[in-house]
Amino acid sequence: MQITCLGATRTVTGSSFLVELDDQTCFLVDCGLFQGGRQIEQRNWDISDHRPQDIKAIYITHAHIDHSGLVPRLTRQGYNGPIYATKATSELLKILWLDSAHIQQMEAQWQSRKNKRVGRKDIEPLYETVDAEAAIALIRPVEMNAPLELIPGVTSTFVSAGHILGAASLHLSLQAADGAHNVGFSGDVGRQKQLIVPDPEIMPRVDTLFMETTYGQRLHKSIADSEKELMDVITQAFKEGGRVVIPSFAVERTQELIYVMAQAYRDGKWPGEMPVYLDSPLAIKATQIFRDHPEFFDDETKAILDSGQRPLNFPFLTPTPSTQESQAINDKKGPMVIIAGNGMSTAGRIKHHLKHNLWRSDCHVVIVGFQAQGSTGRQLVDGADTVKIFREDVEVRAKIHTIGGFSAHADQAELLTWLEPQIHDGLCVNLIHGEELQSLGFAKVAQKRFPNAHFHVPKWKEVIRVTPFAEVAPLPVEEFPEPAARLAMPQRRAMVAEVRQLRDRLDEVMLEILTGERDLDQRQIEALRQVVEGAEAALAQWEAA
Ligand SMILES: [Zn+2]
Ligand SMILES: [Zn+2]
Repeated sequence: MQITCLGATRTVTGSSFLVELDDQTCFLVDCGLFQGGRQIEQRNWDISDHRPQDIKAIYITHAHIDHSGLVPRLTRQGYNGPIYATKATSELLKILWLDSAHIQQMEAQWQSRKNKRVGRKDIEPLYETVDAEAAIALIRPVEMNAPLELIPGVTSTFVSAGHILGAASLHLSLQAADGAHNVGFSGDVGRQKQLIVPDPEIMPRVDTLFMETTYGQRLHKSIADSEKELMDVITQAFKEGGRVVIPSFAVERTQELIYVMAQAYRDGKWPGEMPVYLDSPLAIKATQIFRDHPEFFDDETKAILDSGQRPLNFPFLTPTPSTQESQAINDKKGPMVIIAGNGMSTAGRIKHHLKHNLWRSDCHVVIVGFQAQGSTGRQLVDGADTVKIFREDVEVRAKIHTIGGFSAHADQAELLTWLEPQIHDGLCVNLIHGEELQSLGFAKVAQKRFPNAHFHVPKWKEVIRVTPFAEVAPLPVEEFPEPAARLAMPQRRAMVAEVRQLRDRLDEVMLEILTGERDLDQRQIEALRQVVEGAEAALAQWEAA
């Protein structure tokens, strides 16, 4: 039995894990798109290791594209098995896959036009609408907290992870000749007391855990402070007669903003009749999916519904789905709030709103989400005097506010809180879904706090063996009847321990360099890396023999 890490290793995107049983049955847990620059996005094109022809099923922990966005690429290459996800995730996948296919087609068209001018060939899109539609037809919604044997020998249970509507951790009980091996995938872990969604829950006991570490080295501000900051900006803009422009992600963040505004309205704190334009077709559809699935809300949000009120709506919220309605916003006078996508201001209607408003000193831009290096949103956060929008230099006279507490990811303290009840002697924790510094830093902190568990930060395409020669708590040697195995076990264990020690040493050196505790010595790193690779190769050779 083994698990190959196909993505989200020492980086955030591309989450995907190939699980292979001893009888060759294999399936995927998540199938995410790599995002964030040409080099890493190159990985989206070769999916042979995802084995679209062999896998029996795909389990999706939640709808975010970095966990699901490569599925249409697999259907394009012939995958036609089931796709398992919770009900809310299933609904969100439908709109996000179609949106992603549209983006892929636009990008290919744009690149092809560029190529044409220099006499090069057309580019084919990663996938198209038909591939997304094929994927949608394969979705099989399953209940949260229901252990189901959907593949013979594999019992799977989705457990609520908070984060976004419908998001789950996945617990797998894998049957082998020597008993069951339990593996857990955290998915993305939400924050405690996050708005709308419940707090992340604890999975049943696992022997091997794959755990996200997006903010393994960071602490967030409180959500309550962020709610107040948002309402302060809106109230201020109302007094000045100005505009509030909020670039926002369509799923979860937009609904959290609406939740805070609706709450202010119910509390009598909404300023006058200030309108809020929800100017994103995707966010409008996502908001409707949220409203249609209150069974995935937390108790606080359910209580608002039970009292006969609307947690995700209020009289001044105006959706503007059509292009005409969107353009008409510019001609309107007086104070207003505009929520538009995308969240990093790199595409979508937000670009028009920034172009029309950034130069105005009575405009407030509120940044409420993660901004990748190089994005327009990041330039605004970093205090740029001008930004380029549609090839035009736009002067920034608007006030830029960054509100950090709306994150949908647990911070270091919250990750440790989530992990603690799952710790037991010999638990093997693979830290994934974080930039290298975040994952390695978390490994250091967690290893110190939980010395009886083992923490490891896998590399891209690394294979984690889970049984029958489980690296964690191996069976007593006497239980293996063949003399060869009896001899081999201690020897193998020693080799595994040596490789592990060397890898940890390399990680430690890398971490010290990243945190500035040590000067970069490329030769020393290379030397260490060679030793690790040498030991890994020796182990692989020995195992193959
Ligand atoms: Zn996510
Ligand atoms: Zn993610």
